[in-house]
Amino acid sequence: MTQDVAVHPLVSPWGRFGLYSFFVDAPEPAIVDTGIASSPAAMAPALQALGRRIEDVRWILLTHGHIDHVGGAFALWNLTGRRARVVIHEADAPMLRSRAAHVAEYRAGRGRYLRDPQGAARVAAAADAVISGEMEPTVLVRGGEILPLGGGVTVSVHAVPGHTPGSVAYAVDGQRSVFTGDAVQVHGAANGFPGYTDPAAYRAGLTRLRDEVRPRTLYLGHPYRRADGRPYGVALDEAQTREALTQSLDAERRVAAAACACLAAGPAESDSPYSPFAPVADALGYTGDPALEPSPFFTTLHGYRAQHHRTV
Ligand SMILES: [Zn+2]
Repeated sequence: MTQDVAVHPLVSPWGRFGLYSFFVDAPEPAIVDTGIASSPAAMAPALQALGRRIEDVRWILLTHGHIDHVGGAFALWNLTGRRARVVIHEADAPMLRSRAAHVAEYRAGRGRYLRDPQGAARVAAAADAVISGEMEPTVLVRGGEILPLGGGVTVSVHAVPGHTPGSVAYAVDGQRSVFTGDAVQVHGAANGFPGYTDPAAYRAGLTRLRDEVRPRTLYLGHPYRRADGRPYGVALDEAQTREALTQSLDAERRVAAAACACLAAGPAESDSPYSPFAPVADALGYTGDPALEPSPFFTTLHGYRAQHHRTV
């Protein structure tokens, strides 16, 4: 390849969130992440403006199984005449196959702390509203695969679990354009807190991206924020990428220190909305609403609690 393959961001809004998908203009075109059910319909005119057609998309590359990334997959697959191959890590595939998997994930993690009797019903309603259809993926990956996008263009799959068990990064080989979905959280997006279910895996994934994958351009799944609250744009250059990975590791280290202190003392139930992790919110100066979905505060703290129980 002498010329880089062009990457075009496709942005769709969803409540407080900006959802980023990307069109990879390869001979067999790809779209990375699909937003929610209504997102693909807005992608068609955006591609038309580029002189491309959504029905020609041949790859749907999903970074992980959360509803704001897989919600549009079935609708987009239909727009391609069901010809696109739909790729997801096997560990997150249940989230594409079944809306009920999203409710199960809620109950097993953040739902334990939210004291919301309607919580699971709300997640079920959200899954109904924003997942365009349950479907079987075409290609299951585990990391290490190389996907051929025609004309010698290839995309490498890197397993970067932590945000979810099946989070992956896709790298356009040769030009190191890397799509990480939500595997790089910096200081979090709209909720102001980084979200991951497995802290050790999250840290390892960030280190791997920094030292081995080394993106030249990094494409995030949302406008994640720096320590001072300023959000990153839709594409990060090499210097911004190093900064975002360093800040992500620093943020994890701070959360880990506060979480481990709290867990060592024994988490205590209280009237605090952060209960039983109120000392963690205090130590970090976190004042965000911990109940706002997707509730990264409780998702992440539950991850440290599970890790703590495995090691003591
Ligand atoms: Zn996510």
